[in-house]
Amino acid sequence: MDPLNKLYIEITTQCNLRCQMCVQRTWNTAASEMSLDTFRRLMDQVHELPAPPIIHFGGYGEPTFHPNFLDMVRLAKATGARVEMTTNGTLLSPEIAEVLLDLELNRLVVSIDGVTPRSYGDIRVNGSLQQVTTNLRQLFRLKMRHGGRHSEPKVEIAFVAMKSNAADLAELPRLATRVGAWNVKVSNVIPHTPEMEREILYEHSLTACTYRASRWTVDMSLPKFDWDVHTLSALEGVARSRASLTLLHHSLSARNDYCQFVQEGYAVVRSDGQVSPCLSLLHNHPEYIRGRRKQVTHHSFGSITTSSLRAIWESPTYIAFREKLRVFPYSPCTTCGGCERFPFNYEDCSENTFPTCGGCLWAQGFVECP
Ligand code: SF4
Ligand code: SF4
Ligand code: SF4
Repeated sequence: MDPLNKLYIEITTQCNLRCQMCVQRTWNTAASEMSLDTFRRLMDQVHELPAPPIIHFGGYGEPTFHPNFLDMVRLAKATGARVEMTTNGTLLSPEIAEVLLDLELNRLVVSIDGVTPRSYGDIRVNGSLQQVTTNLRQLFRLKMRHGGRHSEPKVEIAFVAMKSNAADLAELPRLATRVGAWNVKVSNVIPHTPEMEREILYEHSLTACTYRASRWTVDMSLPKFDWDVHTLSALEGVARSRASLTLLHHSLSARNDYCQFVQEGYAVVRSDGQVSPCLSLLHNHPEYIRGRRKQVTHHSFGSITTSSLRAIWESPTYIAFREKLRVFPYSPCTTCGGCERFPFNYEDCSENTFPTCGGCLWAQGFVECP
């Protein structure tokens, strides 16, 4: 049996921000949150697993907004699991930070999509960059007192790159150093609206040979280069040519048809207890790819309120789904985008049925998990 290595838990869909690219902007349902009793039950179920998975507080809501958030972290740590969270960082007061340090939280991912108050505020509506950096610096000071700069929680920045904030990428390492973060993870935006589709930084890459090695393309192998006035426009030309690229012996096509959630043993529990294979299938939502709307329908393999996590993970239908995903026999809908089946994830032209994954931006390396 392939192990469950990481469990994302969405304890709430409530949030104090209203970010431009958030999927919540497309919802017309009321926010929901997981009760402490349900969470306790879930942690009992984690105890039944052969080994505790990493528990990651994440999903489509702000975990620190949940009134029982710290109790939940305590219960999660009691399973013996490594515990992580993704947060917008705005509510991370020194009091909360102190408790998280005492509870030995292992990893803290903070979403920051702009390095200036203006670029941040344009995207993270109702948020304040100053508040987030102040909170992170206070956390860093507390860490220095507890275990030193390299102690846990390991702080990381998650940045969603778009046309409107791409210029900020160069300043991210400096910002990270300033707030005590050691890692910056950049993902692309998932375009849930036509406006967000106009913001994407991968319009050409959806179909480019650069990332699509095949027997019909020449592969071009590149060494280390200075990325400067002499090389940048030439490299842009290479990226737009008909060659697939290899950089320092790493093919840029390595992450095609690769579902990280399945390949690396992840699952997601929604705030109502439904267990989904990934963040993409956690909620119904629209995506706009190559000018066309695709409605992604939520998929669950069961609920922890009526079954157990172990029974769901080990159910024949979920095992068969994971085996199929490793082969990835789906039609290439992100590169094609051209038939009557495209607007839904119900079926594709390779005779796959719901949920079809060929149009998934995560599996084609455009969107990355925290
Ligand atoms: S912080 Fe996260 S959940 Fe809240 S609005 Fe922004 S993207 Fe959505
Ligand atoms: S189902 Fe086939 S024809 Fe239709 S969009 Fe996907 S790849 Fe293209
Ligand atoms: S390929 Fe995409 S939609 Fe399918 S399980 Fe993986 S992340 Fe989810």
